[in-house]
Amino acid sequence: MKIYNTLTQKKQEFVPIEEGKVRIYVCGPTVYNYVHIGNARPAIIFDTLRRYLEYKGYEVNYVSNFTDVDDKIIKKAQEEGVKASEISERYIRELRTDMDALNVKEATFHPKATEEIGVMIRMIETLIEKGYAYEKKGTVYYKTRSFKEYGKLSKKNIDDLEAGSRIAVNEEKEDPMDFVLWKPKKEGEPSWSSPWGDGRPGWHIECSAMSAKYLGEEIDIHAGGEDLIFPHHENEIAQSEAASGKPFARYWMHNAFLNIDNKKMSKSTGNFFTVREICEQYPPQVVRFFMLNAHYRSPLNFSRELMEAAANSLTRILTSVGQLEFLLGSGTLKEGSLTKEEAEFVKETDALQEKFNLSMEDDLNTADAIAAIFEIVKLANTNCNGDRSIVFVEYIKDKIIALCDILGIKAHQEEELLDEVIDKLIEERQAARKNKNFALADQIRDQLLEKGILLEDTREGVRWKRK
Ligand code: AMP
Ligand code: ZN
Repeated sequence: MKIYNTLTQKKQEFVPIEEGKVRIYVCGPTVYNYVHIGNARPAIIFDTLRRYLEYKGYEVNYVSNFTDVDDKIIKKAQEEGVKASEISERYIRELRTDMDALNVKEATFHPKATEEIGVMIRMIETLIEKGYAYEKKGTVYYKTRSFKEYGKLSKKNIDDLEAGSRIAVNEEKEDPMDFVLWKPKKEGEPSWSSPWGDGRPGWHIECSAMSAKYLGEEIDIHAGGEDLIFPHHENEIAQSEAASGKPFARYWMHNAFLNIDNKKMSKSTGNFFTVREICEQYPPQVVRFFMLNAHYRSPLNFSRELMEAAANSLTRILTSVGQLEFLLGSGTLKEGSLTKEEAEFVKETDALQEKFNLSMEDDLNTADAIAAIFEIVKLANTNCNGDRSIVFVEYIKDKIIALCDILGIKAHQEEELLDEVIDKLIEERQAARKNKNFALADQIRDQLLEKGILLEDTREGVRWKRK
């Protein structure tokens, strides 16, 4: 598989450190509110990457943190007059509900910053011992210039950066480029004891320390949204590589941003939606499908029109699978092996699966992978009917379901028939009647009844309702 690596700015063949295993760390959200649909983009993209790697047979160790101590959490807790942990715990729970709806699997480990302060303190101590960090009045700073490769991920030059920065009056740092690893306690804020007095860790050290604890000093993939490249990921590299003396992550993956109506998402101007809000308006799968219809490194625009289009496309897949399932349940299909013609269609389907795989191998091109699924759906819609054999229809149906499953889309609808499937079946029943094939027409009626759908023949046409 080829992965675009932000570090080398090239698509590179993916070779894991340990054969058959993948260690991946995805920067998680700060939990002070419901997640918005922008946050859902990396969650869905990297979950899909994980699913694809698992499908390829890798054992994936997927770690994603919760930043549960942060200024925004503390502010919200003060506003509500509750403890910061109450805010973070509440939104971690709510986040899980949203992620379940979007079919984002739980990480192998979901460390919380507040439960990992010890490993962060140890990493800061190592950095001080090695001369990469220093303490001033209870604050520990990272000495950015001491890390010679600083800027290698974001392609920034430290002198250019320095020209645009200055030291604030209340700061004690030696160089404007130095960043905070540990900050002293403020009244009314959560704090932990440390060799530098009570306080709390900076944000960047969190990911370096938790990644090392759960995945080891060297990992395969580190991922997140493109806004994290600088300074967060640049600082993570500086901390991790200075502490261990080893390369930190082999591949750095970043998703582009999601905009709303072609404008930047922004909480301050109210131009944002939560996942919760959108899932009240559309089946949550549509959100996932919508995100996967674009390549993850292209900016994506969220609009009603595009969501409607995604909903319609997804319905086409689900309707096709629903019809194939109905055909299989009809009892009219032939027993025995594939006919010559069916064998040709199977070959065509296998070639389309190959197209799906090649797209995914090419830096997770989910948009092209979905196009390959649509070609199989088209083949199914034109070639699967009551005259075919069971093995053939089953093969095509299973293929569509399996490919959707790799993308985290559930194409098999267990609960109830979709309206669109019912409408199509009623059309088929009308056609059967017209052709005087009353046995088939009755059978469709009975089968619908079994699924709880009542047909009523009226002068205006056929009406249906759920029992
Ligand atoms: P945050 O809670 O802001 O740290 O964000 C959690 C994750 O969502 C990070 O990987 C961000 O890069 C990503 N993210 C935030 N906003 C957007 C957006 N509008 N589009 C895509 N990704 C985003
Ligand atoms: Zn991070």
